[in-house]
Amino acid sequence: MLFARPHLLGLEGLTAEEIDFLLDSAESFKEVSEREIKKVPALRGRTVVNLFYEASTRTRTSFEIAAKRLSADTINLSASASSAAKGETLTDTARNLAAMRPDAIVVRHPSSGAPDLLARHVDCPIINAGDGAHEHPTQALLDLLTIRERKGRIAGLTVAIVGDVLHSRVARSNLFGLLTMGAKVRFVGPPTLVPPGFSELGAEIVWDLHEGLKDVDVVMMLRIQRERMNGRYFSSLDEYSRLYCLSADAVARARKDVIILHPGPMNRGVEISSTVADGPYSVIMDQVTNGVAVRMAVLYVLVGRRKAGAEQGEGAVPIALAEASPRRAATGE
Ligand code: ASP
Repeated sequence: MLFARPHLLGLEGLTAEEIDFLLDSAESFKEVSEREIKKVPALRGRTVVNLFYEASTRTRTSFEIAAKRLSADTINLSASASSAAKGETLTDTARNLAAMRPDAIVVRHPSSGAPDLLARHVDCPIINAGDGAHEHPTQALLDLLTIRERKGRIAGLTVAIVGDVLHSRVARSNLFGLLTMGAKVRFVGPPTLVPPGFSELGAEIVWDLHEGLKDVDVVMMLRIQRERMNGRYFSSLDEYSRLYCLSADAVARARKDVIILHPGPMNRGVEISSTVADGPYSVIMDQVTNGVAVRMAVLYVLVGRRKAGAEQGEGAVPIALAEASPRRAATGE
């Protein structure tokens, strides 16, 4: 099975086979993080640049740990420290970075489409670590992995994605991934944050929290993205939390074996109560653990195969799973 794309810009348009391939690869990398010495030589001598134009702790750290566990060298560039602050365009920054021959650029940017623009100007793999309200593919992959692990499948499940869907790249990437994998998606939130038109994307729309959680297998909570709001979407945070905060009461509407996800950072008491966040249905810490494995898999699949291709004199020709088994990389074979 192949993942033949040169970049990971989003989950929209990926096939179920491609997503399965990435999830299977991530699963085989999980074992590396359980070892005493958490390192394999898979990307030794490769350089991964983390280019972050937006604040991030979890995602940037997760990519950095993933790259280091594959023995790649990592460089972190944040917007405040970069030439963006001095007026350089993203394309110029990219060209300059590319001239230093990195093997992959992981990019987070407040503008939707920025990773796509980069991909057109550099010749190394670009990995989207979140662009505006567009996509956050590695987040959705780690969510899919967590769901698949806990439920044993994705197809046939009903997943409620709750809260600020309008501004959420996490919701969009998950919608594409979940629908492709055969799940049903329900968007739940106030009409200002879950506009009726979103049903055209293939999700069911429910504006009442208790009704929206009825019989769902998975609840995915979203943070209110105040940094992306340029108007009023609800009268007060207090009112929002009275209507949409995930309490133990609301969870009781879901299936008995429901699991609860949150991409972080959580606003306790706003969209999720502490009782639920720390309760028995929460798989939030599994998501963080799986994030490292998913990012190892994505880096390995995109960068490792370039290495193999280059050594065979084939440029960036994709290689088959049989030749680039993550399990082989994970065991150092
Ligand atoms: N960490 C996620 C993101 O970067 C979710 C969030 O910020 O609320 O999109």
